[in-house]
Amino acid sequence: MYLSNYHSHCTFCDGRSSMEDFVKFAIPHGIKKYGFSSHAPLPFLTKWTMLADDFADYEKEFYRLKLKYEGQIELYLGLEVDFIHNCSDIENEFFSDKKLDYTIASIHYLDKISENNYWSIDGGFREFDAGLNLFFGGDIRLACKRFFEITGLMLEKGGFDIVGHFDKITYHALKYKDFNVTDKWFVDMVTVSLQLVKSKGIILEINTKSLAEYGITFPHAAFYPVINELQIPIHVNSDCHYPNHVDAGFRQTYMELKQTGFKTMRQLFDKQWVDVEFDENGLK
Ligand SMILES: [Zn+2]
Ligand SMILES: [Zn+2]
Repeated sequence: MYLSNYHSHCTFCDGRSSMEDFVKFAIPHGIKKYGFSSHAPLPFLTKWTMLADDFADYEKEFYRLKLKYEGQIELYLGLEVDFIHNCSDIENEFFSDKKLDYTIASIHYLDKISENNYWSIDGGFREFDAGLNLFFGGDIRLACKRFFEITGLMLEKGGFDIVGHFDKITYHALKYKDFNVTDKWFVDMVTVSLQLVKSKGIILEINTKSLAEYGITFPHAAFYPVINELQIPIHVNSDCHYPNHVDAGFRQTYMELKQTGFKTMRQLFDKQWVDVEFDENGLK
């Protein structure tokens, strides 16, 4: 039995420790496949994305660790690529010559406030609420509609392996009294988007980053049955920014997925994705 994690951060972006610190934690905790997925550079500067000039060092440190820990853990080189409508996606010039094992596409910024200034749906609540009022007159339904419209554009464009924190908008949306993940309008919207994930053959990560703090995964556990019914390939990622969060929430999530009826998770074997059986203790 073993575990895997393909969504992780380190000091090349906003992670709080070196690449090696994460590897040192992962090995004794049963992680056999571990991918680095720093936030890829954006066309403008931020505090949380990798600097374009740092990519060569990111790659160099990755290959040093891959060699050093060979036989103890399989390491993979990836990036978490932001999808920002008309601004950032996998087709940006930066990615054209990069040799990566895989990519994750995620939405953190939804709409443009001003030049190089975007509304983050992944930051603090105050910022989220201000953007909600600015763009949607405080209507959380309209914000969710926009989020899944942008998700649709990202999925249609494709070019990546994994969709990151699929329904991240729920992170803040759940703080509004009139929002429930089981509301029909929301379920319908999510289901259409999941059908698109399925038709594009993209892997859906089950992201455990907020499980300990908020009790939710992305996508929300309420959608596990429909994901299973659609037979969308999944795997569990922690989106860790601290070494001791490498396997956070894995045991509980593996168990819930097993109980829902999932049988396999999609895993990377060198350059190929393969479906591997699992149970509550891990991958077989
Ligand atoms: Zn992310
Ligand atoms: Zn991330």
